[in-house]
Amino acid sequence: MQQVKLIVSNWKMNLGNKKAARLVNNIKKLKNVHPNYKNIICPQFLLIPHISNLVNKSSVLLGAQDCHYQKEGAYTGDTSIELLKENKCKYIIVGHSERRQYHKENDSIIRKKVDLVLSKKIKPIVCVGELLKERQSKRYVRIIKNQLDICIPKNLNNIVIAYEPVWSIGTGLVPSLKEINEIYQLTKIFLQKSKKIHNFYFLYGGSVNSKNFKEIIENTSVDGALIGGASLKFSEMKKILTNS
Ligand code: PEP
Repeated sequence: MQQVKLIVSNWKMNLGNKKAARLVNNIKKLKNVHPNYKNIICPQFLLIPHISNLVNKSSVLLGAQDCHYQKEGAYTGDTSIELLKENKCKYIIVGHSERRQYHKENDSIIRKKVDLVLSKKIKPIVCVGELLKERQSKRYVRIIKNQLDICIPKNLNNIVIAYEPVWSIGTGLVPSLKEINEIYQLTKIFLQKSKKIHNFYFLYGGSVNSKNFKEIIENTSVDGALIGGASLKFSEMKKILTNS
């Protein structure tokens, strides 16, 4: 368990220039942000240069929601890691379930992205998580171990894993604290034994809001949260970032 907690906003395909700027400026002005919280905002690609300027010299860090697994080339519509690095992205979300679902990304593609992101000294936030039918049929342990096995290289000093059960994303359904801790434990043991990784950040994502955040952060082994819907609202982020 790490002392610093990562609070990652995944804005997804939301917010225009004005609303995004207003939200970031309000967040920058926040007083009493918990001293151990690192606040990372992942906007859609076209917002990145704008937000990069806004967060410059502030404590807010910039992340991206994805990148291509090749450095550059004939990949129409995709975004390169070089450009994300130029725009000072420090984190990149990789393998989000919406990329897996709508862009048919599989674990081998995700692994290529993880390798590229690490080679550029950017931190990947690697998403894993099971579908509802996989949880109901008790296959989720095997599914998550398999995702970790393919997506994560061996012998890293540190890595960020985001456990996001697909059935929890945007649904209001949240696993119990015991269920979150079970996945933390299995991730820890798997990374230690199979990957020789002893330090990692374990984030929980899926319907996190200001009401359930405190309970999750204080009563489980998580090192932070990946937040979708609630991250678009200043009133929610204020409560989350100040842990109030
Ligand atoms: C997400 O998609 O990463 C996410 C956690 O979404 P939400 O918080 O809206 O469930």
